[in-house]
Amino acid sequence: MHAINYEAPSTLDQAVSILKTHGENARPFCGGTDLLIQLRAGVRRTSHLVDIKKIKELQTLSFDAKKGLRLGAAVPCIDISESDVMRKHYPGLTEAAHLIGSLQIQNRASVGGNLCNGSP
Ligand SMILES: Cc1cc2nc3c(=O)[nH]c(=O)nc-3n(C[C@H](O)[C@H](O)[C@H](O)COP(=O)(O)OP(=O)(O)OC[C@H]3O[C@@H](n4cnc5c(N)ncnc54)[C@H](O)[C@@H]3O)c2cc1C
Repeated sequence: MHAINYEAPSTLDQAVSILKTHGENARPFCGGTDLLIQLRAGVRRTSHLVDIKKIKELQTLSFDAKKGLRLGAAVPCIDISESDVMRKHYPGLTEAAHLIGSLQIQNRASVGGNLCNGSP
């Protein structure tokens, strides 16, 4: 692996600004369960990793009968599969999150990362 700069912004604005500045040379990541493996295997290269786990809005998991579900892109799968609210209103998502890898992976892996990687 080559040297990579690590950044962990605490706001969406900061994250967007870093990604904009470095363009194709920057990559957002969350759990790293897909991306770090791809970097190690040399199938992907980047010079800036932008860790989005510290961005509060992206960690939101809330439900309101009128407004519906708010599910942040950085919410780990374990929070979904262990949430009573999710089990009650979105059992399909609960099951899907529970099916991803092992408990260790579910603790790291995010919903956003899963959608963005699109791995079958
Ligand atoms: C042992 C093992 C078992 C696994 N089992 C399964 C399985 O059963 N089913 C399955 O579907 N997957 C599985 N995976 C793959 C992986 O764990 C999941 O896809 C996981 O949800 C990825 O989330 P992450 O947060 O770790 O993503 P990361 O590795 O952090 O990111 C994945 C990709 O998404 C991009 N990305 C991440 N967050 C964002 C964002 N907010 N906005 C834009 N782009 C973003 C990154 O740049 C990267 O390209 C497994 C992986 C391992 C190592």
